[in-house]
Amino acid sequence: MNTKEYYQEIAKKLEFDTDPFINGKFVKGGGPAFDSINPANGKVIATLSSNTVEEVYEAEKAAREAFDDKRWRGLAPAERKEILFNLADLLMEHREELAVMETLDAGKPITDNYEDDVPEAADTFRFQAEAIDKLEDAVTAGDPDHLSLVVREPLGVVGAITPWNFPLGEAVIKAAPALAAGNSVVLKPSSLTPFTTLRLAKLASEAGMPDGVFNVVLGSGDTIGDAMGKHPEMEGLTFTGSTDVGKKLLIQAGETNAKRIFLEMGGKSPFIIMPDVKDLDHAAEEAIGAAYWNMGENCTANSRIMVHKDIKDKFTEVFLEKVAEMTTGDPLDPDNDMGALIEKSHMEKVLRYIETGKKEGAEILCGGGQILKETGGNFIEPTVFDGLTQDMTIARDEIFGPVTGLMTFESEEEAIKIANDTRYGLQATLFTDDLSTAHRMSRELRAGNVSVNCYSEGDLGTPFGGYKQSGFFGRENSVWALRQYMELKTIWIEL
Ligand code: NAD
Repeated sequence: MNTKEYYQEIAKKLEFDTDPFINGKFVKGGGPAFDSINPANGKVIATLSSNTVEEVYEAEKAAREAFDDKRWRGLAPAERKEILFNLADLLMEHREELAVMETLDAGKPITDNYEDDVPEAADTFRFQAEAIDKLEDAVTAGDPDHLSLVVREPLGVVGAITPWNFPLGEAVIKAAPALAAGNSVVLKPSSLTPFTTLRLAKLASEAGMPDGVFNVVLGSGDTIGDAMGKHPEMEGLTFTGSTDVGKKLLIQAGETNAKRIFLEMGGKSPFIIMPDVKDLDHAAEEAIGAAYWNMGENCTANSRIMVHKDIKDKFTEVFLEKVAEMTTGDPLDPDNDMGALIEKSHMEKVLRYIETGKKEGAEILCGGGQILKETGGNFIEPTVFDGLTQDMTIARDEIFGPVTGLMTFESEEEAIKIANDTRYGLQATLFTDDLSTAHRMSRELRAGNVSVNCYSEGDLGTPFGGYKQSGFFGRENSVWALRQYMELKTIWIEL
């Protein structure tokens, strides 16, 4: 394993791209300049230029020209595949640099970025690229005088708006299937974490992607994201972020051109432990990941740990022992499990939730405050509440920080009722040693992803997305994601 000093040396030499990437090159934007700040020390990493609304229209125009003249969608699937494979290889060649860049920009632990996020980004391109010449279209059973073909075609220009919690991963999970399907893409990353997305665009160009096919615009959600939502011609818009913004984009799609819209939004996931579970150590280990992975800045963060009353005391003891072993601090240090929260105002919001939890009667078992203030960074220790009830704010709202709460239930029916008592439905985790209970309860949980006896979001081959107000219309990953970036066309030929 590399050391903190090794990564610090890489950090010193990093160069950051600071302008939007449009039509194959970095072009200074005419909008207000903005800083990207390192969440672990509060220092400015670099100042970037942002776009104007007119420039978003120019980016869309470049993307449309690329679509219309078929420089990308007109390539044979095997040729597009080759270029996407080149990009995957380049991502791995730049693995250390990208991992360090992401850590500096997002406060995420270096080990997560190096071991998971960057390789998974490469694998996502490989998966989607590998799928494009395997999908088959259809000839349906028409009458003898006609031939009916059902074919898929790319949507056209697809806008993508991504959040700050997995900056590279979220850009890739959208760009890979949209590009593989033959679309042109205009992507807006969060202004808090633009760097790895800009580098991705540059690497795509190096990999052989024609100019205008993959563009990155920069700027605030209120201006640039809003312009994408209102764009009268983009055929698709894929978004990951908060439920409030997602619902606004849905309205804008309806008010403009009925663009195809795919929304991945918030969550409030339950982690249920049934009384038959013998290996509570394993359950507790997974509960740590479920609650604190990525500092809890995770849409599937399991911030409601529901334990059957008969095993609650034993589980709590094991869980707290494991929480005490967690280390929080400099995210460039591979020994740390948790890094810094994305920005000061977000840390303050999480701290306010902790105060609200206390006021509403939940008991703090550990954590509960800011730490490492002297660093200038946004660090909160892992926090566990006990006595969580469904009427409490911290049991209903998405906290998006390292805060979880323990609650009890007495029957399977009650567990299902509590788990489903939320406006969200992204993910649920269930622990049981009984096969029938596992199947029965998995079907009753109203969530797009249910993981049993582990905490997981599945893999690249499984669709990821939410029920209720966690998602709308779309799924990430798998061939389902690839298909959603295509229209279906019936061609009916008289013979
Ligand atoms: P956010 O909604 O504030 O921002 C997400 C993106 O939308 C950013 O690029 C932002 O600039 C843009 N945006 C903001 N306001 C906009 C507007 N008015 N019009 C258009 N675009 C706008 O969310 P965030 O704080 O960046 O991310 C956290 C949220 O993302 C959480 O709710 C989390 O659950 C969710 N999330 C969901 C998933 C998932 O797959 N379901 C994954 C990661 C994060």
